[in-house]
Amino acid sequence: TIEIEGLHKSFGALEVLRGIDLAVEPGEVVCVIGPSGSGKSTLLRCVNLLEEPTAGTIRVAGVEVTDPDCDIDAVRRGIGMVFQQFNLFGHLTVRENVTIAQRRVLKRGRAEADRIAAENLRRVGLTEKAGAYPAQLSGGQQQRAAIARSLAMSPRLMLFDEPTSALDPELVGEVLAVMRALADEGMTMLVVTHEMAFAREVANRVVFMDAGVIVEQGPPAEVFGRPREERTREFLHRVL
Ligand code: ATP
Ligand code: MG
Repeated sequence: TIEIEGLHKSFGALEVLRGIDLAVEPGEVVCVIGPSGSGKSTLLRCVNLLEEPTAGTIRVAGVEVTDPDCDIDAVRRGIGMVFQQFNLFGHLTVRENVTIAQRRVLKRGRAEADRIAAENLRRVGLTEKAGAYPAQLSGGQQQRAAIARSLAMSPRLMLFDEPTSALDPELVGEVLAVMRALADEGMTMLVVTHEMAFAREVANRVVFMDAGVIVEQGPPAEVFGRPREERTREFLHRVL
């Protein structure tokens, strides 16, 4: 669960988030769409305090991450995050990439970490690439490895920031398929995406952001099918 109330974020004089209220329920898939620069990445990054909010409160699974006394490392351990850039360690194999944080952060033993790595590499269809190095993988395979690495940390919640936008078009589908399976398994997901077909089919709720505010939100059929706000219609007209 994520509960965001009155979230503001400024960089110097630039107010990027101007009062965001958003809740994501357990098992819910929420897709965030909106123009470039509207604050989508900043919103996501505030959830695990990669950016420090200027004002407002954020609770993750009941823990107020914006409370100065909060153990943010503990909260972050429960949140998987997948970016546009995969950020795999190039000198480590795929299996090592998926075990290293399990061992160092969660202190799992080698056998357990290897077992959980194998499980999650199977989940993303990369069993046969466990011994390969990232440079030997396609972009889609690298992103699936990055997803497996996140899942191996047993997160209760996954944040995705345009996970397919660095990929060649023919590799997008395999990554979206993994995300779709994850959604079907009941993972709570907050996804920033330009993939409108994915948002339409997989999201329980679509949130349209513009200029640091949520302009409208609702079930995909409503937001895509009969948007209430002119700004939403204009945006959808441009991207669809
Ligand atoms: P895109 O679709 O292009 O990824 P976005 O909706 O994710 O855009 P953000 O990355 O959240 O947008 O950025 C929102 C605004 O905040 C932009 O004007 C950006 O330049 C600014 N911004 C983001 N990060 C910083 C930072 N660390 N310092 C200063 N300004 C920043
Ligand atoms: Mg962004």
